[in-house]
Formats: sequence, C-alpha cells, structure tokens
Amino acid sequence: MKELKKMNAKCNIRMNKYKKLSSTIPKSSESFEWKNVNWRKIKLYLNIFQNKIYAARKKTKVALNFRTLIRPSKSKTREHFAKMKEVINKTRKTDVLLMELNPKIIGWARYYRTAVSYKTFKWLDTLLFKALLKWQYKKHPTRSRKWLNQIYYHKKREKNWVFGMKSPKNNELVSLKSYTDVPIERFVKVKGEKSPYDGDILYWSLRLNNHPTMSGNVSKLLKKQKGLCNICKLPFFPTDIIERDHIVPLSKNGTHKISNMQLLHGHCHKIKTANDRKLM
Ligand SMILES: [Zn+2]
Repeated sequence: MKELKKMNAKCNIRMNKYKKLSSTIPKSSESFEWKNVNWRKIKLYLNIFQNKIYAARKKTKVALNFRTLIRPSKSKTREHFAKMKEVINKTRKTDVLLMELNPKIIGWARYYRTAVSYKTFKWLDTLLFKALLKWQYKKHPTRSRKWLNQIYYHKKREKNWVFGMKSPKNNELVSLKSYTDVPIERFVKVKGEKSPYDGDILYWSLRLNNHPTMSGNVSKLLKKQKGLCNICKLPFFPTDIIERDHIVPLSKNGTHKISNMQLLHGHCHKIKTANDRKLM
C-alpha cells in the first residue's frame, strides 16, 4: 500500500477510493492437485501506467488480491498421452489409427474444456504431431520426407499440415481431430433465484440445450442466435410467440435442414413472409 501511494504521488494519479488492495504481499503462490485438475493461486498485479490488471511477477507492479486458476493436472495429462502413444505404437493402418485416436482426443478435451486448458491443449497437439512423425518413419523407413508429406498431410479449410488420409472410395479427407478444435467454455453460474420448475423454458433451454417441453431444433437455434430474434435483434421473452422460419423459402427450393432455419417473433415472421410474397 505504501509503495502504491509513493508511485501515485510520483505520477500524479488519483485512485478510486473503493478499489480494495491487499496490504500484504504473499511470498509464494500455492498449488495443489485435486479431482484431476491443478489448482493454483495466482497473484494479480496492477500496472499503474497502463491501468490494467494481470498476473505477473515483476517488482515494479503493485500486488492486488489472488485469483484461482484451474488447469488439467500434469500427471493426468502425461498419463493420457502415454495411452495415446501406446495406441500409436500398436497400430499400423492409418484408418484404424484415426478411428482409435479421434474419440480419445475429443473426449479428453471436452472433459477439460471448462478449465484454463488452452496451453495444455496446444502442448498435446505438438506432442501428437511429433509422435506421428516418428510413426511414419517407422512405417516407411525407406521413403523420403517429401513423399510422406504428400501422403499424410493435407489442407483443411485454413489449416495446413492436417494429418489424415483420403478415402479410396470417394476421395474424401478423413482427418485427425486436434485438441484446440474443442472450444473452451467457462461454466456459467445459474442466475440468482432461477429454478428448473419456474416455467421459464426460454432460460433453461438456452442453458441446458434440451428442455423436455421444447423441441431439439428450437433449443439448438436459440443457442445459435443467443436468444435474439434474427430480424429485430431483440431478445425473446417467455411470453413471446416463437416461430420457426425457412431462410430460403420452400417455394424457392429451400430445404428443411437446420442451416436453413431461424427463429423469429410471431409478428416479425408475418412481415418476412409478406415481403417474400411481394418478391415472388
Ligand atoms: Zn423479432
């Protein structure tokens, strides 16, 4: 606190009265492993010049309070990768390898996607890449790197160097999934006094993705549109009439696929269909 006051006086900065600062600077950050994850206390520092809060260890910044970070535990990550390696060493056929590895990757990444795990995911991706390079050399000891690259690595959307194979039947790419493909989603607390029995279907279908009284497609679309109507961009309320609409109308060869569907308010839907008919 004293340091901060000194710094403030030097730079002529006024601080908000209500900002609470910890007066003691702890000696070390604590960490322990529990329930497959690593829990770690991180010191937060305030950079006076940029007025930003972030985790750092430099003396020039002033310590704020703690924040707890939850990461995949190191021992569990190593254990998982050892299992992956076992599979890689055991199998020889590429299609079998892909079939064995993909569900393991997605399952593991989904388990840890609510934690602070992006760096771990990236690390595992590079480890897998290296292990698969070794596997290729073992399988084809006499082939050149160029030949191997042509066979095993492909372009997928914006990504180069995607491990996979083209199926001999229809020449479609079957590729290896990566850990970083699984988006990291923080757990969102249930709002104040909400209960599953309160009848607010809209809130619960957005949150749970499937509510017994709402059809699967509607709740999927609700989540996709983040609870907003696609025309007026206003939120749906529990009392509103929600209607499903075909973006490309059926009369113009639109399909029933979910990619061609959207949710609209009852009144917005009427305006849209009227406009569609005018255009016809
Ligand atoms: Zn609307």
